Parts: sequence; C-alpha cells; structure tokens
Amino acid sequence: MKFSEIIYQRAENELRNRREQAEKLASVRRKEFIVKNPELLDIENEMKNAALEVIRSVGADGKKVDISQIAKRNLEAQEAKRSLIKAAGYPEDYLDIPYTCKKCKDSGIFNGKLCECHLALLQQLSVGELACSPMLARSTFATFDIKYYSDIKDTDLGFSPREYMRGCFEMLKAYAENFTVQSNSFFFSGGTGLGKTHLALAILNRLTQRGFSVYYNSASGIIKQLEKERFGRSVDSVEEEIEKSDLVIVDDLGAEFATPFAEATVNELVNNAILSGKPMIMISNLSVDELEERYGQRVVSRLNSFEVIEFIGEDIRQLKK
Ligand SMILES: [Zn+2]
Repeated sequence: MKFSEIIYQRAENELRNRREQAEKLASVRRKEFIVKNPELLDIENEMKNAALEVIRSVGADGKKVDISQIAKRNLEAQEAKRSLIKAAGYPEDYLDIPYTCKKCKDSGIFNGKLCECHLALLQQLSVGELACSPMLARSTFATFDIKYYSDIKDTDLGFSPREYMRGCFEMLKAYAENFTVQSNSFFFSGGTGLGKTHLALAILNRLTQRGFSVYYNSASGIIKQLEKERFGRSVDSVEEEIEKSDLVIVDDLGAEFATPFAEATVNELVNNAILSGKPMIMISNLSVDELEERYGQRVVSRLNSFEVIEFIGEDIRQLKK
C-alpha cells in the first residue's frame, strides 16, 4: 500500500499524541507518588550524584579512578527506588514514562528507520482510509451488476456479453474464495467502464476479509512513488510493500507517462512478480497487442504466464447515467 501525505500526517499526529499522553501521565503519577513517598527525592539525588561523580572521575590528568564504588552506590540507589515503588503497592516500572512503544519511545523512529509501531500505524490508518474510500467500499462481488452487460448474442463471439461476463465473474469470485499465495496471475484487458477495476477491488475486499494483504496501486502511482524514492523523498518503499503483500494489483497499465524510467519500472515489476511467483493482477485499457507496441515484446512475452481476461460490453459508467 502506498501511503499518502495525509496518512503520514495523521500518523505523526497520533505519535505526538501518544508521547504527550504518556509524559503527562508519568508526570501526574510522579507528583502523587512524591507527596506520599518523599524519600524518592533523596534516592534520586543519590543517583544523580553518583552519575556526576562518574563524569568527574574521568579526570583531565588521565589518573585512573576506581569507579566501582560509585557504580555500586548507583545500583543500590536504583534498587532502593524499585523497592520503594513496590512497597507503595505499584509495579516496578510505575514511574517510567508509559510509552505505547518501548522500543522507539513513540518517536516512530528506531535505529534510523521507521519503527514497527509506526509502520503498523500507517497501515492501520490507510486501511481505514481505503475502507472509507467510496470506490472500494462499493466495489464488491455483491454489487457487481451483470445487468449492465447486454444479453444480445454477439454473432461473432457466439454468446452475449452478459453470458461471457457472468462466466468471468464466477471465475474471479471463485479465485478470491480459493486464493492462496500460489494462485495464478491475471491480465485484465478491455476498454474503460467495463468493470475491470470493480472486480479487482472486489477481489481485494474479499482477500482482506480472508486475512490476506493486497497491494493496490496504479502503474503511474507506482512510478511516481519510485521516483520519489530515487530522490530520497520517501520513507516507505514500494518494493518492500509489494514484497510483504500476497497479491499485487497494478491498475491502469499503459496510462502512465511513457518514459524510459516508466518502461524499465513496468518491466521490472512484471519480472519480479514472475520470479517471486507472487500472484499479480495487471489491469489495462490496452489490448495485449497495444501493450506490446508500448512496452515491447520483452514485457509482453513475460505476461504469457498470466491468464488474460478480455472485458467486453459497453461502458457501464455511460449506461448508469
Ligand atoms: Zn515504536
């Protein structure tokens, strides 16, 4: 999943909120504790003094000072603090700042990288955003209306678009029901408004319900993201997100701006999917032939292992008007 600027902003806000809440709580606890157990201040003073002595002991004269005594005093003070807290009937870490994530202290960064808690937050927020996206919410198998496809028999094909699309629909529904990480890949081809994105999102919805992780983005979205990464302006990596997902859906292939970088990216995407054996759904308004014209034979020959579904009928968006 590609995270939008807004999602980053919300995650930042949430992290700041967690930090502030934790610090506020710690400060309230401490004040209350000291009122009832003023000895804490003495113990803390002892710890502070021990620490200062260690610093002073590293003298400029290079004289070796035995700090084992100071270290011992410090350990004793720490132990006294724990005992005091316990004796007052609290857990040992009661006076520590209760960060949600102990690893990064709710900063979101650990070892110079996005902390797991930060990534989890971004994912959680973007699932929320996607789930709220009206397009995704309404694109399920249940809302796929076969009546928008003509039931007039196409004399060339020997069947009606409705008959044909019902077959595709049933097949893709079964695909989503029985999906495993070894499932096959698809290439959805056909003009706009024929339900390609609808059925792809229906698969996404069903797989998410079934606990799979699905990466969905348009080809141009992926390319934009990769360009950002190239110039170091992005913290998340498309590659990592794709790596982590069970199914990759690339929408609107061929609609992106034709550049050597775009071509190389598409080539690599298809290549990696095939090498990793990761199921993939490529969606394009272009036919296989048009795609070959656009990206060359090399890319298209790689799509050979994809099952091609040609969407037919009339633009549903026009019919719905
Ligand atoms: Zn963290």
